[in-house]
Amino acid sequence: MNNGEKSIHEFDFTLICEYFSSLKRQGPGSPEITVKALRFIDNLTSKSKIADIGCGTGGQTMVLAKYAPGHITGIDLFPAFIDIFNRTARNQHFQDRVKGIIGSMDDLPFKNEEFDLIWSEGAIYNIGFEQGINEWYKFLKPGGHIAVSEASWFTRKRPAEIDSFWKDAYPEIDTISNKVGLMEKAGYIPTATFVLPEHCWIDNFYIPQTGMQERFLKKYAGNRAAEELVMNQRHEAELYHTYKKYYGYVFYIGKKI
Ligand code: SAH
Repeated sequence: MNNGEKSIHEFDFTLICEYFSSLKRQGPGSPEITVKALRFIDNLTSKSKIADIGCGTGGQTMVLAKYAPGHITGIDLFPAFIDIFNRTARNQHFQDRVKGIIGSMDDLPFKNEEFDLIWSEGAIYNIGFEQGINEWYKFLKPGGHIAVSEASWFTRKRPAEIDSFWKDAYPEIDTISNKVGLMEKAGYIPTATFVLPEHCWIDNFYIPQTGMQERFLKKYAGNRAAEELVMNQRHEAELYHTYKKYYGYVFYIGKKI
């Protein structure tokens, strides 16, 4: 689910949900990386409030719940993901402090200065990094943190094929320094950035999709939307293998002044 708006708008929602809900994560990441990002956040207590925006089925949310104190609200557009999220929260006995709700990240049902921490892994691209960090600012308490992961260029120059793929899929992809500049402009102190290791894409995101792709092609033989979804994901994975020197996911952590 990384090729920006395309995967959300051009395919059948039900198919997307079925395809991605079978995965632990709907984007690149890992429990270790969630914990690593969390280490940059100080002063959370059992009274803290955390929002996980674009939480998907909650893979990273349950890791947050395990390692961070406080109450967590996960929010996602897809009801099927939120059903899985709340079921997992109950199964892992987090139901008293972890709750999933359905909603859109461009119209969040939150109060100003409600949160100590806003988290979002692999999801802010849905409204764009700049719009997201600016609009979500008001929901943070002064001194609160934002931690988001976002597709970024590692170099200023790259081969034309990958440049045009991303410019089409997500034109806001940019270098790490430019993204940090956007954080400063939005009023955050950029406290940390780090690059997600390759295994977050390969082992935790692309490889887990291969079984589903086979099943999907059999189950929906002749269904163009399903075939295109699989083809697109395979193409994206191939591009990643070829061009992973030039781009990847980066965690951006900032503090509201
Ligand atoms: N954070 C999860 C999911 C990342 S995939 C993980 O790292 O595994 C991106 C998620 O954003 C999907 O779950 C998708 O349903 C959700 N999403 C897409 N558009 C959204 C919107 N407008 N508001 C809230 N969630 C949205």
